Amino acid sequence: MELPKRYEIQASEDKWRRFWEENKIYAFDPDKAAKEGNIFSIDTPPPTVSGAMHLGHAFSYAQEDFIARFQRMRGKNVFYPFGTDDNGLPTQRLIEKIKKVKAEDLGREKFRKLCVETLDKELRPKYVEDWKRIGMSCDFDIFYTTINNHSRKISQKSFIDLYKMGREYRAEAPAMWCTECKTAISQVECQDAELDSTFNDIIFKLEDGSDLVIATTRPELLPACVAIFAHPDDDRYKKLFGRKAKVPLFNFEVPIMPSKRANPEKGTGILMCCTFGDQDDVEHYLEFNLPLKEAIDKTGKMTDIAGKYAGMNVKEARKQIIHDLKEAGLLVKQTPIKHMVNVHERCGTEVQIIHSKQWFIKYLDLKDEMLKWGRELNWYPDYMKVRYDNWVKGLRWDWCISRQIYFGIPFPVWYCADCDEVILAREEDLPVDPISDKPPVDKCPKCGSTNIVPEKDIINTWATSSLTPIIAADLFKDHPVREKLFPMSLRPQAHDIITFWLFNTVVKSRLHYNVNPWKDVMISGHALDPKGKKMSKSKGNAVAPQEVMATYGADCLRFWAAGSKLGEDLPFMEKDLITGKKFINKL
Ligand SMILES: [Zn+2]
Ligand SMILES: [Zn+2]
Repeated sequence: MELPKRYEIQASEDKWRRFWEENKIYAFDPDKAAKEGNIFSIDTPPPTVSGAMHLGHAFSYAQEDFIARFQRMRGKNVFYPFGTDDNGLPTQRLIEKIKKVKAEDLGREKFRKLCVETLDKELRPKYVEDWKRIGMSCDFDIFYTTINNHSRKISQKSFIDLYKMGREYRAEAPAMWCTECKTAISQVECQDAELDSTFNDIIFKLEDGSDLVIATTRPELLPACVAIFAHPDDDRYKKLFGRKAKVPLFNFEVPIMPSKRANPEKGTGILMCCTFGDQDDVEHYLEFNLPLKEAIDKTGKMTDIAGKYAGMNVKEARKQIIHDLKEAGLLVKQTPIKHMVNVHERCGTEVQIIHSKQWFIKYLDLKDEMLKWGRELNWYPDYMKVRYDNWVKGLRWDWCISRQIYFGIPFPVWYCADCDEVILAREEDLPVDPISDKPPVDKCPKCGSTNIVPEKDIINTWATSSLTPIIAADLFKDHPVREKLFPMSLRPQAHDIITFWLFNTVVKSRLHYNVNPWKDVMISGHALDPKGKKMSKSKGNAVAPQEVMATYGADCLRFWAAGSKLGEDLPFMEKDLITGKKFINKL
């Protein structure tokens, strides 16, 4: 046989890809697997649908595909499904951007239809093609999306089951809130950002007219001040406990109290507690049963209690209040500082804490168990477990799962408008949309009222994607192989979502089934630019895997991805691809 002098990458890869698809080379055979066992099951990460696959995807999916192929060669029945994550806020924002619409203008029904259509017809088919192109050996016929009826049903059933177990509660409580996205968010969706700020030393007046200086970065919260705290052992302030001080500009009095949470080293060592500036305020509020005074509303504007500052946004109010304090001679000093704040990871807006009615999964009482669950997993590489442990130790909130957005999976819940009784959907009716579907009862079972209203909120997307092992296994719900597919063998994923996806999946699996969802977890790193910097579209240093494959082919890209240790970030070097190309030519 005559071999061409050079290996024709594109032609050859196209040919083999077609061959794999036509002959179903990587199809999972459920009958054989049910009979033999010997299954290696992979909880493939469903990529969040966006315009196109990025290089980081190509990098980590190539690494997990090596494992799949290795296990197949060892004779395992490899269960390797594929799904896409396409519900919740990321999808809502993507559709708003490409269709140039606002969800709130279209209304829930129309907007949701637009999302589903755009996903089905324009985005998903092209998007999945990229994964086939890099040579993933998934069985693409074992397919799910996190918004289809199959996933909606499982997600809503999970909600109902956890509610019945007493693991979910709906409460009027302080929750993290994004004023840009106008929704509650959870701790995991916050990122630390270092901002330039100022410590403002402000004068509060004691009853006898003397000055008490308190340092704060957030003077706009003065109207929401409910107490002043200093450490019980702080000799400077001991004599003030039990007395009152007048809040500057707003002229109402608040009590001065001892609290071990006050840090004598920070600022002036005495702090104002507002409902709510930060998590410490929330904890003081709960511990001392303080009044609730909200100065900032859900759109980020000052409320009526801010008096003449009402209607201003946070920054305007801060500026104006500092100006007025200066005028009144109540500002002693300003010190510029670098200040860590929480921002919403989707939009970069500073997170506020706002009191509102939300659904929570109760799990702060399980921290010790969570650490144990983490120990029971095999971590590859093992040092990645530290990130899981640190996250668990740093948890300070129950998991807030309700979102005030338009696109996603609705709660299977109605309420009695008169007595607030929770009315759950019947399991056989799932999936439901309480806005368009009838509740399962005509009258409130508790008070007999016929005034029944739907829950309009959406279940947080992580509360659904944390069910992927079940979503995938349940595709064979009526087949004998089903019981052999869960728990799974392997969860491969990148390190940035250990606290999101990995942690949440473990939590759900333990709460529902009391087992870990998989035996092994394999954590890959990120693709970096040639200088070792994070790639990002906005910085212009992103390399598109589609272009790389057009030049070098998928095999060279995979050769590059194989050149790092598992878990380590890998800079993108063109020379590695050239080496790959030469190597493949030799083969
Ligand atoms: Zn946001
Ligand atoms: Zn009722």
